[in-house]
Amino acid sequence: MRTILVIGGGPAGTLAAIAAKKQDPAAAVTLLTLEPCEPYEKPPLSKAVLLGDVMPGDALIAGPGGVAGHDVVLQTLSRCTAIDRFDRAVVLDDGRRLHYDALVIATGSTPRQIPQLPIGMPRVHYLRTDTDARALQSALRRSRNLLVVGGGLIGLEVAASAAQLGVKVTVLELAPRILARVCDEQTGAVVHAAHSRYGVDIRVGTTLAAAAPQADGRIAAQTGAGDQVIADLVVVGIGSKPDAALAAAAGLATDDGIVVDAQCRTSDPAIFAAGDAVRFPGPHGLVRMENWRHAQDQGAVAGRNAAGASDTYATVPSFWSEQYDLYIQGVGWPVQGITRVHRPLGGDGLLVFEISDGRLTHAMGINARRDLASVRRLIERRVPIEPAALADPAQPLAAMLKR
Ligand SMILES: Cc1cc2nc3c(=O)[nH]c(=O)nc-3n(C[C@H](O)[C@H](O)[C@H](O)COP(=O)(O)OP(=O)(O)OC[C@H]3O[C@@H](n4cnc5c(N)ncnc54)[C@H](O)[C@@H]3O)c2cc1C
Repeated sequence: MRTILVIGGGPAGTLAAIAAKKQDPAAAVTLLTLEPCEPYEKPPLSKAVLLGDVMPGDALIAGPGGVAGHDVVLQTLSRCTAIDRFDRAVVLDDGRRLHYDALVIATGSTPRQIPQLPIGMPRVHYLRTDTDARALQSALRRSRNLLVVGGGLIGLEVAASAAQLGVKVTVLELAPRILARVCDEQTGAVVHAAHSRYGVDIRVGTTLAAAAPQADGRIAAQTGAGDQVIADLVVVGIGSKPDAALAAAAGLATDDGIVVDAQCRTSDPAIFAAGDAVRFPGPHGLVRMENWRHAQDQGAVAGRNAAGASDTYATVPSFWSEQYDLYIQGVGWPVQGITRVHRPLGGDGLLVFEISDGRLTHAMGINARRDLASVRRLIERRVPIEPAALADPAQPLAAMLKR
């Protein structure tokens, strides 16, 4: 009987464990997580949880029956401190050693910190776990104003949630526009305008120069532009870094993430890795991705391969974000040398396509969920595309799949 261990109770680890058990029902599969609870979904933490619509932990990754419902053993409060590759064992912080035949590492990522605003500083919040979300949710209800450092997805989702709760929000973004690493200018402008409608003060091209608590406990922040913002509360959302320390200490190849091949195998053939923590081969070299679908899909491939399959992870990447009544989505691989085509939609709706060599490579959309589902299939199937047809809202995208 094969023993498979999975480190990390996020979507990559949870899906890896479930897929491994499905692939090899005779295997003993154990999921180790340092958190005290069943694996839960993170996307609601910056949206519905802050708005009070759902409780943290309401959405379980493994479904209502939890991980045990899939015949996988869950060990909570189990922090892995080392991997002994020679002995094929994982060492836990309580001194236990667990043997494995195959191991999946899915340790995810952790927020990048600002030295002047470290994790643990009063009134300063970083958002990664359900505990973080609970703390922020309750702090927002006691606050009149919020400073968000970072105009990326997490920062803007928190800003949108806070603004809808009636909190006055200021956002500092270093780049000349928000979401610069995520989407094109036009999409970013629609999102910016929605924030402005809710009174969010977005300051681009500047960031935090200094920050210190005042006598009343509030935080006095100086921007790079020389302004001062006094905030009841600060949220830092300046990106994440891969949690690859365990893998690196075990001598596995790492390079801004755990390096894996297309089958999610690390430099040790008995060890696989998936999710936010890894760099994997994309069409233009090694890439790292931080999104839910990637974590789930790659986790499942890593789990199956740990249980004896030889599947290849070939994904069309995608992400989504929800801010106010905007459902923002990106699908595909952005590439150089593209033709960009806009398809007019009503209201705040937007679709921007990128085409290379007569094929769709990438698209961004706002409130265009059905169209984006067709876009994914057009990209996956490499369907030849006419730019004029894409630009014409009278030509349904789903019909192009049948050509
Ligand atoms: C607030 C928030 C909102 C998000 N919203 C969206 C969204 O709207 N759309 C989208 O596409 N993506 C979203 N994401 C991103 C998505 O949730 C992540 O990409 C995904 O969770 C990554 O999954 P993962 O399993 O690789 O890592 P994680 O989810 O980070 O899980 C890693 C797990 O490993 C555990 N762990 C780490 N080290 C150890 C150790 N040594 N021993 C034991 N356990 C360990 C951690 O505690 C954690 O439970 C959001 C993320 C956050 C934080």
